[in-house]
Amino acid sequence: MNNRLESLSEILLMGPGPSCVPPSVYEALAKPTIGHLDPTFIAIMDDIKGRLQNVMKTENRMTLPVSGTGSAGMETCFVNLVEPGDAVLVLINGVFGMRMADVATRLGADVDTLAFDWGSPVVPEQLQATLDGKKYDMVAVVHAETSTGVCNPVEEIAAQVKPTGALFLLDAVTSLGGIPVDADAWGVDAMYSGTQKCLSCPPGLSPVTFSDRAVDKMMNRKTKVPNWYLDLSMIVAYWEGSQRAYHHTAPINMLYGLYQALGLVLDEGLEAVFDRHRQSHEALVQALGSLGMEMLVAPKFRLPMLNAVKIPHGVDEASVRQKLLQDHGIEIGAGLGPLAGKIWRIGLMGHTARKENVDRLIDALASVCGK
Ligand code: PLP
Repeated sequence: MNNRLESLSEILLMGPGPSCVPPSVYEALAKPTIGHLDPTFIAIMDDIKGRLQNVMKTENRMTLPVSGTGSAGMETCFVNLVEPGDAVLVLINGVFGMRMADVATRLGADVDTLAFDWGSPVVPEQLQATLDGKKYDMVAVVHAETSTGVCNPVEEIAAQVKPTGALFLLDAVTSLGGIPVDADAWGVDAMYSGTQKCLSCPPGLSPVTFSDRAVDKMMNRKTKVPNWYLDLSMIVAYWEGSQRAYHHTAPINMLYGLYQALGLVLDEGLEAVFDRHRQSHEALVQALGSLGMEMLVAPKFRLPMLNAVKIPHGVDEASVRQKLLQDHGIEIGAGLGPLAGKIWRIGLMGHTARKENVDRLIDALASVCGK
């Protein structure tokens, strides 16, 4: 039988995710599948929790990878923490803030949104006025807005939310493992991430953490969590305690991959990992500048792992992406929503964030654009 997998070749993944996967993570994924209640597997799960706590900078007991991609982590936070009628404020400056508002609205929450320009960060002064005007049960924001390349001032936002008593929910899908994420020090109550960005593991798991306050809210709900698969109060019985109870069959090999990917990040050291992202980003911005290309986001708010580059005048952006992929084996991303056709999104996430990859992309881009 024809096997399409045989002709798959490795692509240099420089888009908005997934990112390149290190060989040892592929090796981990290919280890023998064992039972999801096998004591050896339970020990791996316990280590994954510990590694996640280290990478997320949290001591939260409720820290585990949800089965599913980043959006499953997003849903997990909302379905467990929001009840119908709860007042939720979502700060929006890109696609993923919009997705959060959509998820919260579907749960019957009283959702307010505070919108900022795409390509600009959340403005704390505007947030303050909104927080002064209404009491919220939850405030939610995206740390690294992958659709625009903007880093939101999360520490400042968290400090504003704290005195209001609202739960603070953070999307760390693209930020975790690429820039500092300090869940406990910032006072984050719930946070979710994804494996396929700066953790450099294929898509399929979403690390989630809940503070004690968030766990309290979840345990004292008036209504049942309206989603069986993502009900953390049930899932936790599989992830904690001396007797583990079956909830759903854990994606065993994906968890091996995450275990290995987290180990790589921690072995390299978080600071070294952040430096590598920053240095690759600086090299990229400088090289793009020498090709006459400009960035969308002001320097102060740029993400190192997601670079939004303005499409030069007269360039057919889709054909450049297609040639990069077909002729050079490099993937970069297109703009989304109002930025479609206006930007490319160049990812320097996890294992991809290396100077040699920047050089390879710049050479290819120069040749495709006839520079
Ligand atoms: N949040 C952010 C900031 C993202 O970048 C993404 C995916 O790109 C998601 C959430 C959703 O993650 P997934 O596509 O893995 O479901």
